[in-house]
Amino acid sequence: MGYWKHVAFTAIAILVAGALTVLAKYLGINVTTAVAWLKCTHDFWNTPVEIIRWKFVLWAALSIAVLAVVLLRIVLAVWASPYRVYVGEYTHGLIWEWAFNTRYEPVELRMFCAKCFRELHDSDFKYPMPGSTATECEVTCPAGHITKTESGGSALREKVKAAIELKIRTRKWKRYKRTLPK
Ligand SMILES: [Zn+2]
Repeated sequence: MGYWKHVAFTAIAILVAGALTVLAKYLGINVTTAVAWLKCTHDFWNTPVEIIRWKFVLWAALSIAVLAVVLLRIVLAVWASPYRVYVGEYTHGLIWEWAFNTRYEPVELRMFCAKCFRELHDSDFKYPMPGSTATECEVTCPAGHITKTESGGSALREKVKAAIELKIRTRKWKRYKRTLPK
């Protein structure tokens, strides 16, 4: 997903550059006029070539506007990217927080009690007795809050990890706010 986004933006940037070149050609602006303008602005502004001047101004204004929009879109895409803002979630009765590695995989998953935000560890899980038909696990936080979970420790961690990746693929992720669930 992240990769294709970058490809899309590069394609947009190339299209914009192409459109601006065509526009410049249409308005009769060439490298010579542009360079002349940059090199000796004073002379350029005092030339009697009125038409070229307004065309150049129009082209420059449009170019800046279009480039600004493209840049803004790129900045916003990075700013609002799930890899920046989807770094936690309340799920399976617990609060989870994680980071993304360079391959956009969620790593360093941490669990917290949803009632007091104390961190939970794999050793805080109590598994069903061997031979019992129960499948639920129980996790007890240091403050004594008990949460029932469908599985425990690393199995639950893997499940949450897979769900995070699925939510990013299906765009169902939400920006994470570090608060206790209501
Ligand atoms: Zn607690």
